[in-house]
Amino acid sequence: MAAAALLRRRRWWRAGGGGAAALWRVPRRQRSTFDVAVVGAGIVGLASARELVLRHPSLAFAVLEKEKELAHHQSGHNSGVIHSGIYYTPGSLKAKLCVQGAALCYEYCDQKGIPYKQCGKLIVAVEQDEIPRLKALYERGLQNNVRDLKLIGAKEIQAKEPFCRGLMALDSPYTGIVNYRQVAQSYAEDFREAGGTILTDFEVTNMEMAKESPPENEDGLKYPVVVRNSKGEEIYCRHVVTCAGLYSDRLSEISGCSPEPRIVPFRGDYLLLKPEKCYMVKGNIYPVPNPRFPFLGFHFTPRMDGSVWLGPNAVLAFKREGYKLLDFSPTDFLDAVLYSGLWKLVLRNFSYGLSEVYRACFLSAQVKQLQRFIPEVTVNDILRGPSGVRAQALDSDGNLVDDFVFDGGTGDIGSRILHVRNAPSPAATSSLAIAKMIADEVKQRFEL
Ligand SMILES: Cc1cc2nc3c(=O)[nH]c(=O)nc-3n(C[C@H](O)[C@H](O)[C@H](O)COP(=O)(O)OP(=O)(O)OC[C@H]3O[C@@H](n4cnc5c(N)ncnc54)[C@H](O)[C@@H]3O)c2cc1C
Repeated sequence: MAAAALLRRRRWWRAGGGGAAALWRVPRRQRSTFDVAVVGAGIVGLASARELVLRHPSLAFAVLEKEKELAHHQSGHNSGVIHSGIYYTPGSLKAKLCVQGAALCYEYCDQKGIPYKQCGKLIVAVEQDEIPRLKALYERGLQNNVRDLKLIGAKEIQAKEPFCRGLMALDSPYTGIVNYRQVAQSYAEDFREAGGTILTDFEVTNMEMAKESPPENEDGLKYPVVVRNSKGEEIYCRHVVTCAGLYSDRLSEISGCSPEPRIVPFRGDYLLLKPEKCYMVKGNIYPVPNPRFPFLGFHFTPRMDGSVWLGPNAVLAFKREGYKLLDFSPTDFLDAVLYSGLWKLVLRNFSYGLSEVYRACFLSAQVKQLQRFIPEVTVNDILRGPSGVRAQALDSDGNLVDDFVFDGGTGDIGSRILHVRNAPSPAATSSLAIAKMIADEVKQRFEL
């Protein structure tokens, strides 16, 4: 190891490691070697790390997170819906892992005393031509083994949601809501209690095969992968699992694996129903989705704190972690516009994209969408709310990658890494089921 790097690392250990703001301060003699390092402390990374340490208590695991807090990005900026598994192509990973994940999520929340509400959901057809698509969704839900689904008519819609109008609805009483940031933090607590190490403020910028063993280690090259952060600090490990959300393509690239599929960030802005109008919404109210897009459409979602969120829309963002309309990152922008897949997507969906941008700018346009379901809602009843940014994988032909994608690479380092490349909605619902799958995959690929 170069003398300068060694010096930097010694200083790091002396300083307590992980930076002064590390959430769980690294002890003075913190180990620098791990059997598996998981990059990303979102809900998928934390669930996976938790599952790994519970299955292999004698091994050493670390979670490396670039932010100072956990679940800071998608996992802390979402609708908070526990999806029941209706929408997804039968046989797909999304379908299987969502149905399993929802059941595991309820069970976990019960065990840990994490509050949730099984407030149900209606997918409402408001026009005749939506009814065949609604019926197809019902069939799909049945094929996916979603519990307690039924089609209901206009009167039953009003009995469930007195302010909602519709011709027919798909009723999913199993759907619920939860605070996923709280769930992710609980996974982190389990992981730490089982002996796992979480290093926050640790932005992974480089991974390579070690040329020599770590100085304090006498096991030779037992931990051959060096993972370095933006401050030049290093840890050594045998294997890496990346769960980097909006940066999953960059993490793959820096480890010498494929940069494709690329991540395209789609910002989703929410509106809020004013507190005095929240009585108008009891459970989740969703539109019949546009089959061309993986997003579920602008919906009414009650939150655990009693508020009601409306949205999110889906507009192309010019910054991967940009939560405001005018947020811009030259690197992210160039990365996106130089990718041929993005141009193909934009040209194919130009008018839809423009109308989403128009609606994002003008509240009245969004209210019109809402009035299709609850005619009483007016511009005076709503406020602008928070935003989230979805990490959506896009292939070079301009197709949005629909299913979850997990892959590794080849060669010395690639064969030691498993990448979670695409984990969009409903990955929060599915997190415990995804974690089981990742743990199986890690065991099989890396012979843990
Ligand atoms: C607007 C919106 C609404 C949604 N609604 C729902 C919903 O209702 N129900 C549902 O089930 N799902 C929903 N989702 C999807 C769900 O939130 C995500 O699928 C899930 O949170 C993905 O988790 P993750 O851990 O993969 O990603 P993230 O939560 O984004 O975590 C990735 C982590 O990796 C870290 N990271 C990135 N690069 C590095 C690096 N170089 N070094 C170290 N750390 C790094 C990031 O800082 C981040 O903490 C929604 C998503 C959005 C955006």
